[in-house]
Amino acid sequence: MLHDDACLKCSLCITACPVVRVDPLFAGPKAYGPEWWRAHEARDAFDTDPHVDDCTFCQLCEAACPADVPVAHLIAQHKDHHRKKRPQLKRFRDFILSHPHWIGRLPFSPRKVSAVVAKMAQMSSHADFPVADRTKFHSGRPYGENIPTVGLFVDCFNRSYGGEVVAAAERVISRLGYQAVLMPSQPHCCGAAAYASGLVDEAQRIAQDSAHALRETPVETLLTLNATCDGTLRDEWPKYFSLSLPGTRVLPWTDWVLETATADFWSQFEETNEAVWVHTTCRGKVAQGEGAMEEFVKLANGQPLPLGIACCGAAGSYAFKVEHEDAAIQLGIKAKEAVHRQGHQAEAMIVDSGTCALHLAQYTGLFTMHPALWLGRRLMQAQSLDKKAEVSNLCE
Ligand code: SF4
Ligand code: SF4
Repeated sequence: MLHDDACLKCSLCITACPVVRVDPLFAGPKAYGPEWWRAHEARDAFDTDPHVDDCTFCQLCEAACPADVPVAHLIAQHKDHHRKKRPQLKRFRDFILSHPHWIGRLPFSPRKVSAVVAKMAQMSSHADFPVADRTKFHSGRPYGENIPTVGLFVDCFNRSYGGEVVAAAERVISRLGYQAVLMPSQPHCCGAAAYASGLVDEAQRIAQDSAHALRETPVETLLTLNATCDGTLRDEWPKYFSLSLPGTRVLPWTDWVLETATADFWSQFEETNEAVWVHTTCRGKVAQGEGAMEEFVKLANGQPLPLGIACCGAAGSYAFKVEHEDAAIQLGIKAKEAVHRQGHQAEAMIVDSGTCALHLAQYTGLFTMHPALWLGRRLMQAQSLDKKAEVSNLCE
């Protein structure tokens, strides 16, 4: 399924890789992807390199490749071959982290992990961890006849730590005249976390379960709130997992709002020209390109400030692992420098991934949030201004 034959050795993938810039031991995408695969296929160098695990699986190398070599996916295979050589404790940790839908069910979610626990669990004592958000959102059942329906994929992160995000996304959908069917009905992961850690077979099993659960409620349109899940469901499932959701179009919630909202909807937002930083995650850039969130902010009468970095260093569970602490910190510092260099006064940032939002908040000191939360809040402000105007009209 995967092949390296097309590699031209142009090294463009190396130029695109964020880890090469901060990790001197990381040999880069060309060496860990097509070159390793060629040797592996020829059986003349079956060895693996432990530093292959330093790859964040951002896929920027793959997007940069002029010959369409599946560089990042070859690297995932390399990681998979290397897996058995990892210490047992790390293998156990990676297995647990590959099931974020299990972790989200834990009754505790500490912001920090103490040095002792971090050492035992091979986790980072530096990273901020997500805290449970118990905001209630709709149960997921259709609640009205004759109202058009869209599916809203509640990914494992937002299900446990982003209740407010899901509720805001649902509120905007409803305001646009649709009802959201939240799915799947039980926590499931798309398999991205396992794949990024090189647990290829486990990723396939997890994705299969998730596809089965999603097929229980057929929808024409399925909206995603996380750029990684978006690319995984739409692009990777058919290509690498042989899975599909027949008759379903998968697209980011933000893109759907852009194509559905009319001028009338956007006209309710006051011209505040509120400046907000915008970061499209690396997986978002690869899956959909940049620009949608900027357009979204402009239409809501805000002022978008593109952060202009490739990868923030969070990359799903990457920043939580002890061996990636240095790379994650250095990439986080690059994000902070990008904010300072541009010198704007904005205090908030929108970003389409929960773990990236957490990491960027830690390093930039900004208030980070999902675009659904940003727009949902503006919508509430607009509605309360409308109500105030109504009351004052009545009083006159
Ligand atoms: S997936 Fe990202 S981190 Fe990994 S080699 Fe490619 S560009 Fe570098
Ligand atoms: S994998 Fe693609 S980008 Fe990298 S060296 Fe080969 S052809 Fe160039």
